[in-house]
Amino acid sequence: MAQSSHHVPADAEARRAVKPVICYPNMTLPVPDLTLYRSARQSAVKTGEVLVSPRDAACFETPAGHFFRITSVEGPQVGDLNLWNRDDLKERFYSGKTRALHGTHITTGERMWSSFPAMRPMATIVEDSLEWYGIDAFGGSVHDVIGTRCDPYTGNLLAGSQYHQCCHSNLTRAMADHLGVSPAQAEPHVHDVLNVFMCTGFTRDTGQYFMKQSPVRPGDYLEFFAEIPLLGALSACPGGDCSAQHSSDAAACYPLLVEIFAPEAGALGDWQSPDLNGYNQSHGR
Ligand SMILES: [Zn+2]
Repeated sequence: MAQSSHHVPADAEARRAVKPVICYPNMTLPVPDLTLYRSARQSAVKTGEVLVSPRDAACFETPAGHFFRITSVEGPQVGDLNLWNRDDLKERFYSGKTRALHGTHITTGERMWSSFPAMRPMATIVEDSLEWYGIDAFGGSVHDVIGTRCDPYTGNLLAGSQYHQCCHSNLTRAMADHLGVSPAQAEPHVHDVLNVFMCTGFTRDTGQYFMKQSPVRPGDYLEFFAEIPLLGALSACPGGDCSAQHSSDAAACYPLLVEIFAPEAGALGDWQSPDLNGYNQSHGR
């Protein structure tokens, strides 16, 4: 922080002692029917899988009403997840709004929300084998929506580097291959991620974004119910378990497994995808 010449007011401590107010009390958020989702999951059958190579990314599709599971295999590894509406790529995951609604990290029963003007749940977390972690003594927790994604531009800014296996570039290549377009055409689709298995927080003294060694172990998983038809892209971050650094080839990295499961016909009853957001978009004109 820059040196300040402003004087400290006499009531500074009293002002600091004012209690915070939750910006978006989430009692009125629509509650997902986890009981229904879990009962449908019990008889669901696996329909496909994708193994994401270390320091690379891959795309996968999940129909509405199906499930996808991300599992750590072989060694501790974090992943950067992007989601789009498969039928309209303009509707995509909105990390900032998800953070405002659910907090800095998400777990079972919480949702990945989509961008304006759709702004609806895209995916709901139905199982999280790391939900026991909670919030540690440093303020760290798992599966964050505060980081953006590791990218070569920040690396160039801070270190003058040209590194091509950052999650941003991995996701760009995966989308280019999936859509059959150039990296330059695919890059604008890449957006801020859900950091799967990553353990992060903000330091209490300086408010800086920190990462620490992920508690993930092989066999740990995060599973989602697809609320709408999804295209996903997952990058196996070059930071590995993010215990030391990212944006380099120094860390030990492992693959991540994505599996898709289809429920039995009728298992979801009359469940339907959430409606688009109800705001009329007139913006006062
Ligand atoms: Zn990364």
